[in-house]
Amino acid sequence: MIKRPFIGLFQPKLKYDLLEADPKEPEVVPVPSNILLLLNDSLDSSKITFIKKGDQVKKGEKLFLYKESTEHVISSVSGVIKRVESYAGEFGNIKTSIVIGNENNDDFVNDFKEHADKFELDAAAKFLKLLPGAPPLEILADPAHKIHTLVISGVDEDISSTVRQYFLTTESADLKEGIQILKKLTQIPKIILTVPEGISVDTEISGMQVFNISPVYPDALPKMIMKNQLSTIVPQGKTCEDMGVCFISSEAVVSIAKAYRDKSIHFEKIVCVTGKDGVRKRMKVLIGTPVISILKQLNIHTNENDRIVIGGPFNGFSTFTVYHPVGPCMDSIIVQDSGSIPYVSDSACINCGKCIKICPANIPVNLLVRQLAANLFEDAEEKFDLEACIECGLCSYVCTAKIPIFQYIRLGKHELLKIKAEVETEGANA
Ligand code: SF4
Ligand code: SF4
Repeated sequence: MIKRPFIGLFQPKLKYDLLEADPKEPEVVPVPSNILLLLNDSLDSSKITFIKKGDQVKKGEKLFLYKESTEHVISSVSGVIKRVESYAGEFGNIKTSIVIGNENNDDFVNDFKEHADKFELDAAAKFLKLLPGAPPLEILADPAHKIHTLVISGVDEDISSTVRQYFLTTESADLKEGIQILKKLTQIPKIILTVPEGISVDTEISGMQVFNISPVYPDALPKMIMKNQLSTIVPQGKTCEDMGVCFISSEAVVSIAKAYRDKSIHFEKIVCVTGKDGVRKRMKVLIGTPVISILKQLNIHTNENDRIVIGGPFNGFSTFTVYHPVGPCMDSIIVQDSGSIPYVSDSACINCGKCIKICPANIPVNLLVRQLAANLFEDAEEKFDLEACIECGLCSYVCTAKIPIFQYIRLGKHELLKIKAEVETEGANA
C-alpha cells in the first residue's frame, strides 16, 4: 500500500450549480398508478416469500421478503402487490423489485406514532431510516461507530443537484428543529452545518459551527470536507464514520423534523431532473415513482439509445430501464440524448498524465487502471491505492483516451469487497 499526500497537482474548475435567488416550489408529479420499491434482498426459489402477488398492503407498511429478512422497504401507497421479481442492479447485484398497484385509499400504518414523543435513537433508526434523504440513523445508533461529529450537508455532492441547497434555504425552520432533535437523539457534541459559499442562511444554533464550502467540484464530497475543513485524511479502506464523523443531508434533517412534528412519516422526495436540453427542474415525487412518470410530466421523450443517469454526471450510474424508481437518497436524474453521450473507448492509455494531475487523492490513476483492466483487483488495492479513491469521477472526465476509468474503479472496489467477503467466509469455515 502506497501512502500519498491527499492533494492533487491542480484543481479542476468545475462549478456546482448554486440555488437561484428566489427558488420556486418544486413541481409535483402525480402519484402513479403503480409504484416500484427496490428491496436490498434477493429471491431464493427454494424458500416461500413472506410477501406475494395479490397481497393487500397499506401505506407505511414495512415489507420484508422472508420472515427472517432484516432488510425491508416501506410502502408509499396502499394497494395490491402486482409483482415480486428479481432486479439486476449495478454490477449484477441482485435486488428484488416489488410493484404495488396504487388504490388511492387512506389506509395507513403508522408504527412511528407511539415513539414520536420519546426521542429514542433506536426507535428513530427503526422507523425513520427510509425517510426522504435517507438519514443515517442506524450508523448514529450503532455504538461501534463512536460518532463525535455530525455534519449537516447543505451542499450538494454532485453538480447537477440543488436539492440540499433548496432545503437549506427554504425550510430553515424545520432544518433548525431537525438539528435540535438530532442533538437530543444522539447527544453528539459537535454539530457542523455546511453551506455553499455565496448562499446566506438563517440557521443559527448555539454551539453549531458553519463551514462555507467552495463551489468547485469535488469540494463538497464528504472526504474532501474531511480534508479541507476538518483537517482529517480518511485512510485507505476507511470511511468518514470510521473516523467518528457522520454526514447527513439537509433534506434528511428536515424529514426528521416533519416526522416528529406530524408524528408520522412522509414519502415525498425532491429530485433534480436535467433534460436532454440541459434544462434542470426540481420535482416533488413520491418514493417509488418510476422515472418514466417524471419524464412524462416534463414531456421528455426518450429513444432507445438515450441514457438515463441516476446521480451526477461524474459519479452517477446509468440505468437500463425507465422504470427505475425514485429511492430515498436519489437527488438527481439526467437524461442524455444518444447523440450527446460522452464517447468511451477500449483504447490503451497513452500516458498523457491528465488523470494523475487532476486526481484529488493523488492516485497513480494511469497505473491503477491497467491493473483493473487486467482484473488484478488485489494488486490495484495494495500497490496503486484503489481504496484511496474518493469516487469523484474526474479521471474519466479528463481522460484523453476516453477510458471509462471511473467504471473500472467502481467495479474494482465491488470485486475487492467480494474477494474479502470470500476470504472471511473461508476463514470462518476453516
Ligand atoms: S475517481 Fe479518479 S480522480 Fe477521483 S479520486 Fe478516484 S481515481 Fe482520483
Ligand atoms: S488520462 Fe487516460 S490516457 Fe491519460 S494517462 Fe490517464 S488513463 Fe492514460
